[in-house]
Amino acid sequence: MDRPNILFIMADDHTSQTWGCYNSRLAPCISTPNIDRIAAEGALLNNCFCTNSICVPSRATILTGQYSHENGVRTLADSLDPDQDIVAKHLQAAGYQTAVFGKWHLGKEPSGFHYYNVLHGQGRYLNPVLWEKGQDWDGEGTRYEGHSTDIITDHTLNWLKQQDTSDRPFFCMCHFKATHEPFYSHERYRSLYEDVDFPEPEDLLADEAPQNKVFQGWPLEIQQQRRLEKPDNYPPPKLDVEGLDAEEARRATYQDMMKDYMRTVAGIDDNIGRLLAYLEESGLGENTVVIYTSDQGYFLGEHNLFDKRFMLEESLRMPFVIRYPREIPAGTVVDDIVTNVDFAELFLDYAGKEVPGFMSGQSFRENLRGRTPEHWPEAMYYHYWPPRQPERPSHYGIRTHQYKLIYYYGLVRDDNRAPEDCWELYDLDRDPLELRNRYRDPEYADVIPDLRAKLSDLRARYGDTEL
Ligand code: CA
Repeated sequence: MDRPNILFIMADDHTSQTWGCYNSRLAPCISTPNIDRIAAEGALLNNCFCTNSICVPSRATILTGQYSHENGVRTLADSLDPDQDIVAKHLQAAGYQTAVFGKWHLGKEPSGFHYYNVLHGQGRYLNPVLWEKGQDWDGEGTRYEGHSTDIITDHTLNWLKQQDTSDRPFFCMCHFKATHEPFYSHERYRSLYEDVDFPEPEDLLADEAPQNKVFQGWPLEIQQQRRLEKPDNYPPPKLDVEGLDAEEARRATYQDMMKDYMRTVAGIDDNIGRLLAYLEESGLGENTVVIYTSDQGYFLGEHNLFDKRFMLEESLRMPFVIRYPREIPAGTVVDDIVTNVDFAELFLDYAGKEVPGFMSGQSFRENLRGRTPEHWPEAMYYHYWPPRQPERPSHYGIRTHQYKLIYYYGLVRDDNRAPEDCWELYDLDRDPLELRNRYRDPEYADVIPDLRAKLSDLRARYGDTEL
């Protein structure tokens, strides 16, 4: 059988709660038909997680197949060195034509790609500037009129149309800037969801630092402040909290943020529809692996938080759908634990290329066919390194199918807390929304030592000794 083309589509901060196919509280009032179609015609992963929930590190992990402490890209301030070995170079060596479009966010010039046309840093939503391969990376780039989601798709389609897949398969990464804050949609979506009252998360009205959680995070009041102080940064209409009490103002901020967010999602979904339509028209649909995912998740008012970084489900989960009609049965749902460390090895598996020794994941190709390999991991390891910020402290942890144990060591280091006060335990079977930290609950006294031992084992296995 011919080796498949791989079209890897990824958004920024596009969290699972806003994908129709994930059936969240929002599902009854949102529409993502093209994303849902990939899931219906292929597989949906229920337990795909990032190993460090922040843009730059997640992207480096996807490309290197390594944890952040292995590839050296731990925080937003780090960059990926062009000399670093990444999966795209191995796909090139396997005969693939490789390209990347849109958000790169890894600081230095991309390498391992025959072609690229990418944003620098965060890039702009409107009239974005892109740097094309061959242009001076430190120069001014080229400005394009329009919305970044449309423009990134245009460039991706133009490149796909030039590929002769009878000669060699392609590996194409299409990375949207959306849905990153400030969630700035194209104006054609401005009246979408106008009359919708989005269902609120159960603990939207929790205290700023919910008593059962040990960290503070970024409450919606910070989002509110940003909108009030710099209204022009966000799409119209402006947030109005005049005359509202604190609780009403928080609810209004939530509705405002949700409308902006879902309108940028609509732009992504429509553009994924354009990509799928092209594959169909060109006859490439059968032999192309199409993936849509996000570099991490995002809080949309859950626990009264916005942003990501933390190991709680909304931020940890990478929504992930994949279609490959030759091999993946339609409607497959995968519950096995997969992480972004595994993506590179999946690509190499499809390409029939051996896995280089530096990669730390495993291909989940068989899992996608409904067959879980023997000894498949029952837990995943997570580690987040910020600059020193007590409200968003460094932490590491383990997630199994039932439990999640998190240690916020940054609070010991930066906030002088006692180590025993810096743990959270969640029972995901009983409490999937993570409303209750059970670390001090005597009922779980037997579970904790076992999870702590497993967490230590994972740190030892992956050689992470950093604090
Ligand atoms: Ca991101």
